[in-house]
Amino acid sequence: MDYNVNKDGFYGIYGGAYIPEILYKTVKDLEAAYLPIIESEDFKREYHNLLKDYVGRPSPLYYASRMSEKYGCKLYLKREDLNHTGAHKINNALGQILLARKMGKTRIIAETGAGQHGVATATACALMNMPCTVYMGALDVKRQHVNVERMKMLGATVHPVESGNKTLKDATNEAIRDWCCHPEDTFYIIGSTVGPHPYPDMVARLQSVISEEIKWQLQEKTGRDYPDYIMACVGGGSNAAGTIYHYLNDERVKIILGEAGGLGIDTDKTAASMQIGTTGILHGSRIKLMQTKDGQIVEPYSISAGLDYPGTGPLHCNLYQTGRAQVIAANDDEALRAAFELTRMEGIIPALESAHALALLPKVAQQFKPEDVVVLTVSGRGDKDLDTYLSHQNEVNNV
Ligand SMILES: *Cc1c(COP(=O)(O)O)cnc(C)c1O
Repeated sequence: MDYNVNKDGFYGIYGGAYIPEILYKTVKDLEAAYLPIIESEDFKREYHNLLKDYVGRPSPLYYASRMSEKYGCKLYLKREDLNHTGAHKINNALGQILLARKMGKTRIIAETGAGQHGVATATACALMNMPCTVYMGALDVKRQHVNVERMKMLGATVHPVESGNKTLKDATNEAIRDWCCHPEDTFYIIGSTVGPHPYPDMVARLQSVISEEIKWQLQEKTGRDYPDYIMACVGGGSNAAGTIYHYLNDERVKIILGEAGGLGIDTDKTAASMQIGTTGILHGSRIKLMQTKDGQIVEPYSISAGLDYPGTGPLHCNLYQTGRAQVIAANDDEALRAAFELTRMEGIIPALESAHALALLPKVAQQFKPEDVVVLTVSGRGDKDLDTYLSHQNEVNNV
């Protein structure tokens, strides 16, 4: 079984490029250009120099000895939290801006929810001296004020979106509208493995530096270049895609993905779109999404702003549907508890999103044998979530 994208842009029944006619040529041009550029020696050199000296890669693969003991395995944490700008998103933003430049584009747009992808894109644009417009739901602009200020300081124009529920889905709609008006000169930097083909594959490839490093780092540390289990959290799916990329077709490696349960997958306050969603088309791709019987999007909910997207990318939907990956929900309270646990046991304050992967450890530990190697990606750091952590400190520590 091949879990990579096929030549038509599909992963099983998921994926494709369902786009308005006005974007057809733009998306086809990108589809024709992305592989030759990404695989060219010129691009690789420039990209890897930036990853090394600007982002600070390789990110460490850290053996977490206290957590290993607790969960009865050999647990290694892939430290994407140590990247410049605080998460894995910069890997993708830098890759796409290099691609945009090589395609002769002169203007960058992006959507953002929590603001992490907006900050990564604004950073890449400052570095490359390109004008940058970021669409962000008006509610998120209020909730994520510090990231809005960071983007502005970096020189980006932040455009609050007042339509719909004023969150990520609405920001994405608005970015697509902008793209439709300026298809010639504008490059749309999508922040996750979502959107029309070739975006999910392009973003997965740009993030695949994560598993490329895991391979040689594991070889160095354990004498074997693959783990028994690999774990990551999933919003749209980019950090997970990068983490599992080189192991997709290697069935020796079991994949465990954490999606946001919110208040519980049996409540209407959840973002667990793979488990409770139905097949439909959103933002140019056929995926599993949270929708009514009439196909109207149901607003997702998670304590973590980076995970409350109403769908999941097509690669992951297929992994779930085929049984290649175990997909498990972590609820708000479980993620909070996991974040405090990592902080107190290893001295690492993770992003709330990453805590949704950590929160699966107690749920799957009974599968582990003591000699099993488990790699879990810490997708980002928790500075941005400090207010949330502080306001829940008492309830977490009282259980
Ligand atoms: C955006 C974000 C996520 C979720 O996005 P994916 O595309 O699923 O990786 C996870 N962790 C952090 C730290 C993020 O900023």
